[in-house]
Amino acid sequence: MSFQKFNLDPRLLRAVAASGYTIPTEVQDQAIPIAMEGRDLMASAQTGTGKTAVFVLAALQRLVAPPTIRGRGARVLVLTPTRELALQVTQAVHQLGRFTQPRAGTIVGGVPYDAQEKLLRMPLDFLVATPGRLLDHMQRGRVDFSRVELFVLDEADRMLDMGFIDDVERIASTVPKSRQTMLFSATLEGGVQGIAPRLLRDPARIELARVKERHASIEQRIHCADGLGHKQALLAHLLGDREVSQAIVFTATKRGAEQVAAILASQGHACAALHGDMSQGARNRTMERMRRGGVRVLVATDVAARGLDIKSVSHVINFDLPMRAEDYVHRIGRTGRCGLSGIAVSLVSPQDRDKLACIEHYTGQHLDRQVIPGLEPVIPEPRKSQGANCGRAFKAQGTRRSYRTSGRFAQKARSRH
Ligand code: AMP
Repeated sequence: MSFQKFNLDPRLLRAVAASGYTIPTEVQDQAIPIAMEGRDLMASAQTGTGKTAVFVLAALQRLVAPPTIRGRGARVLVLTPTRELALQVTQAVHQLGRFTQPRAGTIVGGVPYDAQEKLLRMPLDFLVATPGRLLDHMQRGRVDFSRVELFVLDEADRMLDMGFIDDVERIASTVPKSRQTMLFSATLEGGVQGIAPRLLRDPARIELARVKERHASIEQRIHCADGLGHKQALLAHLLGDREVSQAIVFTATKRGAEQVAAILASQGHACAALHGDMSQGARNRTMERMRRGGVRVLVATDVAARGLDIKSVSHVINFDLPMRAEDYVHRIGRTGRCGLSGIAVSLVSPQDRDKLACIEHYTGQHLDRQVIPGLEPVIPEPRKSQGANCGRAFKAQGTRRSYRTSGRFAQKARSRH
């Protein structure tokens, strides 16, 4: 069922369509009707579930109606734990509000106060903020919350973990009690459970299965690789298995997808590349060939693989790990569909280790390391705790390198097919 059922303003439906959203995600399906009723809501939904659109659409729908109180202060206040998330939410407001044009502003730390003070003097509809800086402005008497109708706490568990909860409660205490409040959190257990009664009134509770439970039908494995040549040899070995009925191999770049597809084709695989540089027509034709079974191995980038729903994909192979942990979840979800089981294999070189740590942290799982006899890695994996380097910015890896097999595994990879 499409977004039409939500009774959204036609301009919002147009913006939804222009954003490429056709089918609501699970959390959108469950939460948008409740949010639009004006009821308080607490939902367990991790990043990547589409939770932002839930509160952004409900807020924009609210803003379509004229304000009940005159003034300059924002009618919607969203608190996020980090600057990055605040900017992402603001971006979603601009994206979904492109035809309704809300006046949206962001207040985050680490930037000069002057421009923010100017922003707070202007009439605003939507304010997205991190708690610390917002509280600074409040203490200087620069914030007017008298018009706030909707108050959103995004990633509340992270705000708790980061020690923001006192700030959040102080901000909440100055927002009118008549407001609607929505709280989103990866989990509704623990600390969030404790603060909820103080912030929400008789909230509806929505609990999505956590990533770990959602992928119970997918066996996930890791093969450590010493470098590109080793990855190529592992890939050749994996695809030699008759159990692989159809596979999607993910690469970090378009060029990488082309190169890996060319190597696989030279090894005799029925394969094709799929990436964002291809015309929509060419992409559709490739997907159709995959659906009909004419392609056994599809080598794709993340952009191209969005929305791919092919039942017979038995394996997902991450030749490169994705930049964001949520994309890992999205990728592996291309297998194990329609009640079938699936296998997701990731090839992890020393440069990919921080990304792997983030994925394990995000999914709450330690992924099983496996070794293929004859293709053992020489470089050992250091012992460190899950998610240890997770905060570190990912560096694009492999972007300029050739994906052609070289080094000690070259001959092995070539001789297999
Ligand atoms: P979020 O969990 O809100 O961070 O959203 C994750 C990503 O999913 C964002 O890039 C959104 O643009 C995208 N998204 C949200 N809703 C949908 C939808 N219904 N269909 C496709 N993509 C969506």
